[in-house]
Amino acid sequence: MTYTPVPSPSHGLRLHLNENTAGCSPAVLAALRSIERTDTSEYPDYAPVTAQAETWFGVEPGWVQITNGLDEGLHVVAQSAKLKQPDFEAIVVEPAFEMYAACIEAVGGRQVTVPPAPDLGFSIERVLAALSLRTRLIYVCDPNNPSGLPIPAGDIERVADAAPDSVILVDEAYADFSGRTLIGAALDRHRNLVVGRTFAKAHGLAALRAGALIAHPGTLAPLRRVLPPFSVNICAVMALQAAFQDRAYVAWYVAEAAASRRLICDWCTANGFTFWPSEGNFVLVRVGDDATDLVRSLADRGIHIRDRSRQPECAGCVRITAGVVGDTRRCLAAMEVWRATRGH
Ligand SMILES: *Cc1c(COP(=O)(O)O)cnc(C)c1O
Repeated sequence: MTYTPVPSPSHGLRLHLNENTAGCSPAVLAALRSIERTDTSEYPDYAPVTAQAETWFGVEPGWVQITNGLDEGLHVVAQSAKLKQPDFEAIVVEPAFEMYAACIEAVGGRQVTVPPAPDLGFSIERVLAALSLRTRLIYVCDPNNPSGLPIPAGDIERVADAAPDSVILVDEAYADFSGRTLIGAALDRHRNLVVGRTFAKAHGLAALRAGALIAHPGTLAPLRRVLPPFSVNICAVMALQAAFQDRAYVAWYVAEAAASRRLICDWCTANGFTFWPSEGNFVLVRVGDDATDLVRSLADRGIHIRDRSRQPECAGCVRITAGVVGDTRRCLAAMEVWRATRGH
């Protein structure tokens, strides 16, 4: 399945890609404005920013590889699996972020899809049943996108135990919002676990492209072999260094997203719509047959949310980004107008 770019209107309120609706920290802009001529002419030195990232994630030196967005990290685990075993299988747990399928397809791997339970919860039994002798890669997302649901504690480690010849890429794109991470003792114990993080969402650096892979240095070594040596550009490096200095900004934004999440869930409860209790900066809502109509109606008002109704077990669902509270109120007001006219 090829990744289809999502239409991204540059105007209006974008609540369809789980972006940071406030933008980056002002400290990031100041850093970008301080750029010197030789900053652009010299290949970047990644040592300082990598050390800062190791501190940020609380790991030992050698445990972090910064990447050109987390998307690049998702690609290199697939490339590495291909090198290990040309006819490898990779497991994707649905409903899933579309990039996993795109990365497997890009290297000619075989995707094994684990269908979701009707409640969209993570089913360890189904994942274990999908393992084969050719499995070399497993993508899991915690909390998951688009459901926002956590993977039950201990399940990822059980998968790691059951699949010693596979890399388990734990996509923690939304860990800043969930406040949970596998980084720590679990990651230390299981050398086939790789945690993926992004600075696109909570830090608001989506356009600069900055992510990271966190794992034991021995686990990262084969991934580093397929990574271009200078894939992260100097603007991303400078932005990241400034972002690491401004923890208060991330804390503020995470609190805004949490408040927005509650507003969206309360609106759903008040109006009888099913939603999934999300740990991310978004909420999946089951609107029903009118999902596409709602997306179109909001777009007409300049508010963009994501139609997820074609994802497995997500019929009639839309995903709404929970950003700054004021933006969420605007979206809910428009949804209220739509609801009233549709007679829900
Ligand atoms: C947004 C997102 C990413 C991509 O992060 P980038 O750093 O922008 O490449 C990865 N995984 C999931 C689940 C996401 O939602």
